[in-house]
Amino acid sequence: MAISSLQGELKIYNSLTKKKELFKPINQGYVGMYVCGPTVYSNVHLGNVRTFTSFDLIYRYLRHLGYKVRYVRNITDAGHLENDADEGEDRIAKKARLDKIEPMEVVQMYTVDFHDILNKFNLLPPSIEPTATGHIIEQIEIIKTILDKGLAYEVNGSVYFDVLKYNETNHYGKLSGRKIEDLIHNTRTLDGQTDKKNPQDFALWKKAEPQHIMRWPSPWSDGFPGWHLECTAMSTKYLGKHFDIHGGGMDLKFPHHECEIAQSEASCEQTPVNYWMHANMLTLNGQKMAKSTGNYILPNEMFSGENDVLSKAFAPSVVRFFMLQAHYRSILDFSSTALEASEKGFYKLMDAINLIEKLTVSNTTEGLDITNWRTKCYNAMNDDFNSPILIAELFNAVKFINQVKDGKSMVSQEGLSLLRKTIHEFTFDILGLRNLSSSSNDSGDKLSDVVDVLINLRAEARANKDFALSDQIRDQLAAIGIQLKDGKDGTTFSTN
Ligand SMILES: [Zn+2]
Repeated sequence: MAISSLQGELKIYNSLTKKKELFKPINQGYVGMYVCGPTVYSNVHLGNVRTFTSFDLIYRYLRHLGYKVRYVRNITDAGHLENDADEGEDRIAKKARLDKIEPMEVVQMYTVDFHDILNKFNLLPPSIEPTATGHIIEQIEIIKTILDKGLAYEVNGSVYFDVLKYNETNHYGKLSGRKIEDLIHNTRTLDGQTDKKNPQDFALWKKAEPQHIMRWPSPWSDGFPGWHLECTAMSTKYLGKHFDIHGGGMDLKFPHHECEIAQSEASCEQTPVNYWMHANMLTLNGQKMAKSTGNYILPNEMFSGENDVLSKAFAPSVVRFFMLQAHYRSILDFSSTALEASEKGFYKLMDAINLIEKLTVSNTTEGLDITNWRTKCYNAMNDDFNSPILIAELFNAVKFINQVKDGKSMVSQEGLSLLRKTIHEFTFDILGLRNLSSSSNDSGDKLSDVVDVLINLRAEARANKDFALSDQIRDQLAAIGIQLKDGKDGTTFSTN
């Protein structure tokens, strides 16, 4: 059976309808997916990593099913203020002021950190990674359209979206389930600091105060776009007015995504997204992770073991495996005990996968119906990307592999090929785990880091057209049994 025939069986939980729905793309064979990226004013925290890992799983599985996916994930480098009521300082400008550096230095530093950490967790890069500051013109055009339609108003150089007016013909609150009457009564404003007609309105353009350094000219004032607007501008530009999947963390449902829907419906006069997907949060020892309470750990502190929270260091693939052992819509709690249990499971899986190469084949298979097992793996992922069920299925195969090794079950050559192919596809291509075996536990991770350094040096050599050096790196690695493979997602390596 061709994998693409499984496309028709994928079900996705849609946050908008609050139901699991059969996934039907707008254009057969193609998927447009937008995921809200980070605001780059601090080191990426584990909660964000979990969100992006969830969407990496989704991206990988859609690709595995044979879809051509255009995955757009933005970088927010302007416009995100300290609170959601359009007040306070721009987060990046504030960090720049405190550190006495340029805002774009802040952006560069934390964008590099973000990519570095996601690379360690083996996340595939998105197809397009646009920035808010690179799309100011597009954002201004959308504001003009919304003003023309009478759904926004200008006050003292700022432009606000008129939520009540919009709600006369549309439904504001349809995604988050909030009622407009409650919003009117519950929205707080700082006395005298707002030009808004109504507190629930949100900024499309803000006039910059004299001390605000991140500013652009517009028909209304020198200022900056509202935070919600960038995602409308960039998703429309790269995926069109109507696209398949929009994702983000659960905390973005309101107001960010609600406002995105309102902006798109106001400017494009159509609903922008078919499937809204939200990934749940991460807690640490049962408490929300927050810098302010100290209940907080950075990814690099976890890899090095230099932290007061966990008992030891954990490799990125182990943490990734741990995250995928929970469904993306469930809250996941980080603790030493839970991570240690995952670590054991992870190496058990890797050891079994490595053992496949050494199994003795028989004339027949006994102990596991491999074709049926493969179908169950697909069923798990087709049920709203249920990675914990998939992992449970992989452990059924682990048990079988160990039984074959012990002579308690049998596997034919054909069965072994299907088993190997399936377990490799689901473990490495779809779950995105890296193959580390328990015998090379720490040193395996170090080797991977060292080869990554060489891969990066080789990429630099190629960028400088120094092909002699890039070939030398490849050939000398090959000579010691490390093969580099160039693919469309960058260079990977395998060892023999
Ligand atoms: Zn967004």
